[in-house]
Amino acid sequence: MRLELDGETVRYTTRTSSKAQKPNIRSKKTYFEVVIPEKSALKAENLLKRKKNWVLRIRKDHEKYREKIPKRLFMEGENWRVLGEQKEIRIESRKTGKVDDDILLAEHLVERTSVKYRLKQVLKDEARNIFEYKSDLYTDRIAEDYEKIFVRDQTTRWGSCSRKKNLNFNWRLVLGPQRVVDYVVAHEVAHLVHMNHGEEFWVLVEELHPDHRSSKDWLEQNAAELTFDPESLRLLNR
Ligand SMILES: [Zn+2]
Repeated sequence: MRLELDGETVRYTTRTSSKAQKPNIRSKKTYFEVVIPEKSALKAENLLKRKKNWVLRIRKDHEKYREKIPKRLFMEGENWRVLGEQKEIRIESRKTGKVDDDILLAEHLVERTSVKYRLKQVLKDEARNIFEYKSDLYTDRIAEDYEKIFVRDQTTRWGSCSRKKNLNFNWRLVLGPQRVVDYVVAHEVAHLVHMNHGEEFWVLVEELHPDHRSSKDWLEQNAAELTFDPESLRLLNR
């Protein structure tokens, strides 16, 4: 939904919640989510108007985020950055696709689906390889073990570690620099030892990945660069 505030368009969605005690507005990277308690008669629009100054300030961040989303096409010859390296999409006659010096897609598979679909598969496979490799490397160093690795497709989370010692990673991290992938893996591996964000946890992260602060900053400031499909964001913004 859209609302005009001081001549600016504010995009938002509304959700009624049985759990929420108070109405609130959440910033969702490129739009707002207004949560209204089930019993409340408040209109989302009125809440946004009441919090106008805050809304307009955050809206500027949404704008910046949107501008940072790379304009990449799903087509042969297009360059995509994978783990910090520019790679060209090439479609050729081969059994399966893979990420090499370039991104090689299998022609017969593309014909059956699309460049976008196959590109996603190939990048996901590449992500799994790198997550497994790095997780093994880091867990060996601290003599710990993980159970399984899950490669996920989430909008906001980059990684997590479960009590069952499963490691979960967002595949879109491969669209960022290698050191950021290393940081997220180090972070989740450190959770195998410390299930919190206490001092000891950060000491361990530092041991595994000394550059963790700048990598964490990069992720906070450049998450938009890890957008695979800008269309998926646009749908949310209707
Ligand atoms: Zn954590």
